[in-house]
Formats: sequence, C-alpha cells, structure tokens
Amino acid sequence: MSSSRLLDRLVEALQAMPGIGPVSATRIAYNLLDRRREDALRISDALKEAAEHVALCPDCRNYCDAEGERCSICSDFRRRDSGLLCVVESPMDVESFEQSGAFHGTYFVLHGHLSPIDGVGPEELGLDALGRRLDEGGVREMILALGQSAEGEATAQYLTAMAKRRGIPASGIATGIPMGGDIQSVDGLTLTTSLENRRRIG
Ligand SMILES: [Zn+2]
Repeated sequence: MSSSRLLDRLVEALQAMPGIGPVSATRIAYNLLDRRREDALRISDALKEAAEHVALCPDCRNYCDAEGERCSICSDFRRRDSGLLCVVESPMDVESFEQSGAFHGTYFVLHGHLSPIDGVGPEELGLDALGRRLDEGGVREMILALGQSAEGEATAQYLTAMAKRRGIPASGIATGIPMGGDIQSVDGLTLTTSLENRRRIG
C-alpha cells in the first residue's frame, strides 16, 4: 500500500495489462506521476476512446473506428484486389502482412480458430459473414494464413470445404511458419516468400 489510495488503484489497474506484474505496475505508475502527467492523460484518453468505440468491420471483422463503419483497409477498395481474400486468425496478422507490403488483396479476420473444447465454433469465428462474402462473388482465391497448430489445421479444412462448395480455390501459406508458431512470429521477408509460394489445398 502506498501513501495514496488513487495511486494504489492505478497500480492495481495497470496489472491487468499483459506481462505487467506488481513491480512493473508500481514503476510505471510512479514514472507517469513523477514527471509525465501529460503522457498519462494521453494514454488514458486513447485507451478510453479505443475501448469504447473500436468495433469490428462488417466486411472483414478487423478493427475499425466505430460500429457499422468499414475499416480503413476495406474502404481502400481502389488500391485493393478484392479477388484475393486472405483469412487470418488475428488482427495483428493483418498488421504483419501490411508491414511486409507483400499483399494487396483483402482480409477476413477470424479472431481465433475452431476449438470445440473452448466453445469456439463457426459462429464465434464469424463464418456466416465469411460465407456471405464468398457468396457475393468476386473472390477468385481464398488464401489461408493460419497458425501451425492442430486447431489451425482443422480450421483450414473447414474453410477449404466452405470455399469448395462455392467453387472457389483455396491455398495455404504454410512455408516458413514454424510448428506452433503464428504469422506474427515470422519476419516480413519470410512472410512474402510464404505468400508467393502458397500451395493449392482445395
Ligand atoms: Zn474491413
């Protein structure tokens, strides 16, 4: 316990952040209050606004600024090849692809993978929205960029079957991604090569 109840509350709240324990939380709290009040307010404003407003894009389920709005990638349709649809597990995977500069198609974000034991089924992954997107026509290839795990593999099979029912070819970018690894763990060059060397899986 410190000399201030508000400070104690801040230290406790900071520990909700990933990788931050009591020692780090205390250090951060004192650092912000000692000399960086403006930074503290900026962080708190950004966090509050993001937590209150960031929603899922209706087209790709990546994060967007507000409920019902499209994300900046889907809005950028003039510079995007909407015939290539890359399916990833996490919004951070989209970030990795965008940073590599290797992909100019569109995305669909699952926010996980099929995991019946954890209660994650097709509905939780928004596969109805993915189905609608495929039904609209225009997608000529579905590229699967999922993690190399048993669940990722099962998800890939499910998605490949979904594409096949609609006559859309599916490909996978397994090359270069270690077993148990995910898209964010590989560097941009490896990701680019993996994408170029993708293989047809359905
Ligand atoms: Zn979008």
